[in-house]
Amino acid sequence: MLKKLTLTLTVLLCIAGSIQSAPLPAPQLAERYEISQLAAFTYVLNDWQDSNYTGRGYNIGCVMLSGQCDTDRVVWADKNSVNVMRNSTQHGEVRCMQNYTNYWDTKVSPPPKTNKPYFGDATIFTTLEPCAQCSGMMTMLRIRNTVYGQTDPNFGKALERLALNSTALGAPPAGYPPYPWTVTSTLSPSIYAQQLDQGYTDYVNSKPSSTAITAYLTTPQAKAIFQNASKDFNSYNVKYPENQQFYDDAVNIVNNGDPSAIVLSAAPDTDSY
Ligand SMILES: [Zn+2]
Repeated sequence: MLKKLTLTLTVLLCIAGSIQSAPLPAPQLAERYEISQLAAFTYVLNDWQDSNYTGRGYNIGCVMLSGQCDTDRVVWADKNSVNVMRNSTQHGEVRCMQNYTNYWDTKVSPPPKTNKPYFGDATIFTTLEPCAQCSGMMTMLRIRNTVYGQTDPNFGKALERLALNSTALGAPPAGYPPYPWTVTSTLSPSIYAQQLDQGYTDYVNSKPSSTAITAYLTTPQAKAIFQNASKDFNSYNVKYPENQQFYDDAVNIVNNGDPSAIVLSAAPDTDSY
C-alpha cells in the first residue's frame, strides 16, 4: 500500500514538474545558476591536469541542462580532451553536445532523423567563455543560453559577434545582419567567476613565460579557486526545497558520471539541417 502510494506520489510529482509553467522566482532561479556553475567547476577539478602537455587536455569543462534552468536539470558533463584525443577540436562544449547525442542514439529507437530533438532549449554552463568553434556548434544546435565561469579576453565573445547587427555600416562587406540563430552568452554571477577573471589579470601582469589562459589554468592559484568552488558544491545546502532534486541530479552527473536518471525531453522532429 505504502509502495503504491509512494509510486502515485512520484508520478504526480513528475507530472507537476513537467507542467510547471509559472516562471521560477528569481532567488530560486539564481540558486540554480549557482549550483550549475559550481557543478562545472567541480567537474573540471575532479580531473585536474597539472600540465597542458601531458594527460587529457586543458582545465576547461561544462555541464549541460536539457532545457532552461527553471524547468530542466543538469543532464550531461564533459571536458576538454585535446591531448588524449590528439584532436584540437575536442573542447569541453563540443564533446558535451557530441557525447550527449551519442548517448541518446544508443537509447532511442528508432533514432530521430537529426539530433535536434535531444537538445530543446538547452543551457550550457561552461568554466571558460566559449570559443568560435564551440559557439558555432551551439548556434547550429539551437542551444538557448550559455553561461561561463571565466572571461576569455582573446577567444571569447564569439556568440556576441554572431549576434552583432552592423547593417548600419552599410551593405556587406561594410556591415552584416546578425546570424539567423543566436545564443545568449553571459558571465556567471558566481564569486568564483570574478576571482578567475581577476586571477588571470594578475597572472598576465606578473609577466609569465606564457600568457595563455590555458597556462593560467594550470597554476596553483587557479586550482585553489576551483577547489573552493568544488568545496561549496559538495557541501551545498539548498536554500529552497524545490531545488533539492536539481542539486541531487547535478551531483549525480558531475561526481558519479551517471546519466541513467535523465529523461529525454522529446521535441517535435521537424527541423532539418
Ligand atoms: Zn571551444
